[in-house]
Amino acid sequence: MSKTQFKAESKRLLEMMINSIYSKKEVFLRELISNASDAIDKIYYKALTDDSLSFEKDSYYINVETDHENRFLKITDTGIGMTKEELETNLGTIAKSGSLAFKTENEIKDGHDIIGQFGVGFYAAFMVADVVTVISKALGSDQAYKWESTGADGYTIEPVEKDAIGTEIILKIKENTEEESYDEYLEEYQLKSIIKKYSDFIRYPIKMEVTSRRLKEGSENDWEDYKEEQTINSMVPIWRKNKNELTEEDYEKFYQEKHYGFDKPIKHVHISVDGSIRYNAILYIPEKIPFDYYSKEFEKGLELYSNGVLIMNKCADLLPDHFSFVKGMVDSEDLSLNISREILQHDRQLKLIAKNISKKIKSELQSLLRNDREKYEEFYKSFGRQLKFGVYNDYGMHKEELQDLLMFYSSKEKKLITLDEYVSRMPEDQKYIYYASGESYERIEKLPQTELVSEKGYEILYFTDDIDEFAIRMLVNYKEKEFKSVASGDLGIESEDDKNETEAVANEHKELFDYMKNTLAGKVKDVKVSKRLKSHPVCLSTDGELTIEMEKILAMMPDNPNMKAEKILEINANHEVFKSLTDAFENDKDKVDLYTNLLYNQALLIEGLPIQDPVEFTNNICKIMK
Ligand code: ADP
Ligand code: MG
Repeated sequence: MSKTQFKAESKRLLEMMINSIYSKKEVFLRELISNASDAIDKIYYKALTDDSLSFEKDSYYINVETDHENRFLKITDTGIGMTKEELETNLGTIAKSGSLAFKTENEIKDGHDIIGQFGVGFYAAFMVADVVTVISKALGSDQAYKWESTGADGYTIEPVEKDAIGTEIILKIKENTEEESYDEYLEEYQLKSIIKKYSDFIRYPIKMEVTSRRLKEGSENDWEDYKEEQTINSMVPIWRKNKNELTEEDYEKFYQEKHYGFDKPIKHVHISVDGSIRYNAILYIPEKIPFDYYSKEFEKGLELYSNGVLIMNKCADLLPDHFSFVKGMVDSEDLSLNISREILQHDRQLKLIAKNISKKIKSELQSLLRNDREKYEEFYKSFGRQLKFGVYNDYGMHKEELQDLLMFYSSKEKKLITLDEYVSRMPEDQKYIYYASGESYERIEKLPQTELVSEKGYEILYFTDDIDEFAIRMLVNYKEKEFKSVASGDLGIESEDDKNETEAVANEHKELFDYMKNTLAGKVKDVKVSKRLKSHPVCLSTDGELTIEMEKILAMMPDNPNMKAEKILEINANHEVFKSLTDAFENDKDKVDLYTNLLYNQALLIEGLPIQDPVEFTNNICKIMK
């Protein structure tokens, strides 16, 4: 059976392609400059094997020029040029890549510098131009040709005069419409910034005449405009340079130039990997939190380059959420890009890179913690919260990876310490890692619940961040030591004697405690003799999963689930107030009610919880003063 070829309406196809591949019109310039760079590269590769050719790097460049009045934008290169046939096949056939063919024909295996591969980039010009004219003279030929097209209705080719080898692409920039302005593609400043953004590391100079101002000769305040040729691109990317040749200032300059942040980064990491996947990366750990960091607007991600050409501004897949503060870039020649060169086709390579990067960031942070504690603490003040979120998120999937990077304020050291430091100096008889939660270090310090643990000489971690307790719950334990809130029911500290003693008091005053529990029905789950209080008369402790700090945080959530901690009112039986209670219980039940309510409200205040009826509370205080 004979096969019939598909027919495609090339006109429609071209229109569809032009308008659907790219998300931003400005990339047309990236495509044309990449082609120009490829054309120069081809001479370079030819010269490698052809002795009659020599490649003087300095005589090869790309030029960008505008003619405002006539709305022309011209891109000139000194590359290999195209013959009449090549103009037909390469520009006349959609999806025909002369560059890909060149790589195959010349068996350039490591031809990773040549960018072209899909044979569609050129047509991006029609996103911004009504007419595209290409004047080209191929290496080794005497005749130049002009190719011209308005996009939709095909093209013409005719011979023209042109002296130098190379190609000129002239775009007649579209008129502005109501929805879209095209003027920016004729503006010096805009063009410069598009070139900087996408083509900064093209290896040949991209030159442009730019207008500068200067004082008129002999004058002190009379200025004049003058034209000056400038090279816009940096050409050699810093990440391809040898680490030994780069200074701290070079990295800082790059950080600023790239607008990664306004601060001075705490640390940079320069990675060059030449294994199964090749890539270069420069990563920064910033010092200060970007103003929108903990908001929805913040977008994490690293810049992604393929062969020095910018593909993505913020590639989110390269960074896990818990390291979303990291800034920087990755350049790889091994990425398989899709046709628009905006998205990656397979993310296998990307996943590999992301995994490596994540490991590297962790080890860098660890070394910072070990070797430059002060800097690490500075970093932790800004981004520690993010690490704690990282422990908590994804059902604790990353907790093992992150736990050694955590720090908490220590009751003993009065500064931030790591969990490892805590555990390594735990006395032998200490079973748990103790923590206390509150609004500030000062307030936690005064919490009655901390009394027994402190008296035992044990260290307490102070939790002031809303995420702290949630993160710790996810960890459950560290180096086989369980975490325990100083407000939890059983502290695991009491000696047998202590236990017997409290039990005796509890039995002796069972009726009083039952009576108080009744008075506070619905407010607390139980009223008990306290084992942990030393000088304070009362405190609240909790039974079950939810702590008081968690209750407070949940209450602030937009979809407040109205979850309450199961509270227990603990009474210090050695406090004078307890004597007043027992006395009153003998002969004045109203007084017991009054005292019970006062004590309960006191305990709430200490916890930073709201009192239900402040007026009643103050009236009650007055009552006992009278
Ligand atoms: P790609 O660059 O992916 O191959 P393009 O559509 O950008 O696809 O370009 C198509 C082909 O046209 C290129 O492969 C190249 O052979 C040729 N070409 C485009 N621009 C130039 C140029 N400035 N000089 C020489 N050849 C060019
Ligand atoms: Mg191209």
